[in-house]
Amino acid sequence: MIYADNAATTKLSPTALEAMLPYFTEQYGNPSSLYAFAQQAAEALAQARQMVADCLHCRPDEIYFTSGGSEADNQAILSAARSGRRRGKTHIISTAFEHHAVLHTLQKLEKEGFTITLLDVHESGLITPQQVAEAITEDTCLVTVMYANNEIGTIQPIAEIGQVCREKKVPFHTDAVQAAGHLAINVQEENIDMLSLSGHKFHGPKGTGALYVRKGLTLYPLIEGGAQERRKRAGTENLPGIVGLATALKDACAHLEENAAKVSALRDKLIDGLSAIPHAALNGDRDHRLPGNVNFCFEGIEGESLLLLLDDKGICASSGSACTSGSLDPSHVLLAIGRPHEVAHGSLRLSLCEWNTEEEIDAILSAVPQVVDYLRNMSPVWRDLQKGDRSYVIQ
Ligand SMILES: *Cc1c(COP(=O)(O)O)cnc(C)c1O
Repeated sequence: MIYADNAATTKLSPTALEAMLPYFTEQYGNPSSLYAFAQQAAEALAQARQMVADCLHCRPDEIYFTSGGSEADNQAILSAARSGRRRGKTHIISTAFEHHAVLHTLQKLEKEGFTITLLDVHESGLITPQQVAEAITEDTCLVTVMYANNEIGTIQPIAEIGQVCREKKVPFHTDAVQAAGHLAINVQEENIDMLSLSGHKFHGPKGTGALYVRKGLTLYPLIEGGAQERRKRAGTENLPGIVGLATALKDACAHLEENAAKVSALRDKLIDGLSAIPHAALNGDRDHRLPGNVNFCFEGIEGESLLLLLDDKGICASSGSACTSGSLDPSHVLLAIGRPHEVAHGSLRLSLCEWNTEEEIDAILSAVPQVVDYLRNMSPVWRDLQKGDRSYVIQ
């Protein structure tokens, strides 16, 4: 099997697994209990918090552990909205191609009376700090812009957007789920007030995440109960998960440059090879791009059929995001960058990690053109395109 769907989830690293194991077995103490045995658990929790803080360049008391990226996004946005409402500010700025954890939370707020501005995304898959500056009003209580897109891998000018928000005194949140562990992040230098990350996107365990909230900013809990996470996230801590997340993040940050160099070389080989397919186009800017992301549209085919045939060849890939595949709607991300419906349906995302090999890239490069050809030969749309009864969108 060739696993090329690392933007959906990643394999747990052996280092993270090993670090987690004692907390499933001997070290089962509750960090909130007072006896010495449980204090070992409390120490592991504090250590994990420090490790995450070190990777983001913040203080450990600015880190809150959550059940994943979705929860962190929900809490950051709902909390900022509540703070905003208390000051009479009910306008939120985001982008049209955020993850659904952000978009659906914003839709919920819109029903509750908030005004949501979703910035248009350029066909390159980027937004500009100027767009953010122009959208901010006296009423704006939050700007939330994703660090890197999960489908097309484009990396936004986060530090510059953060600076605009700082100057206008508007809190700035970023969904950095695709960036954490893959790109160097410094929340201070990048003017980030809140940041979400998720363990399973960097070889940590699923169901684990963290939210960074800059000291001084009010954070409201989503979940009420005990005093865990300094009263901001009730519930007995998922200690094995937290230790696994912190270990995986530390490991990823320690090998960031070497992994990025290796993975981006594989990515570039894949992009160059797939570009040779006629009427195919890379989605998203080639340079401001996650090291592991490849996303193409192939005219005249259906992404779902492409995935099934690649699966037959043992290749795990994706078309749109994991949440949208299974539905017939084309990806909102591809529509946001201006791909027409019929083209957006024919998309393929291959997302790599440092454990992919050159041989795997060669195998993908031999499989994809074959499968695209096969599907095009059966496609009535493709026949029309070839006969000239229809014109190509992708030249
Ligand atoms: C995966 C992902 C999420 C959701 O994270 P979970 O830990 O799966 O809840 C949010 N945002 C982005 C950009 C993602 O890629």
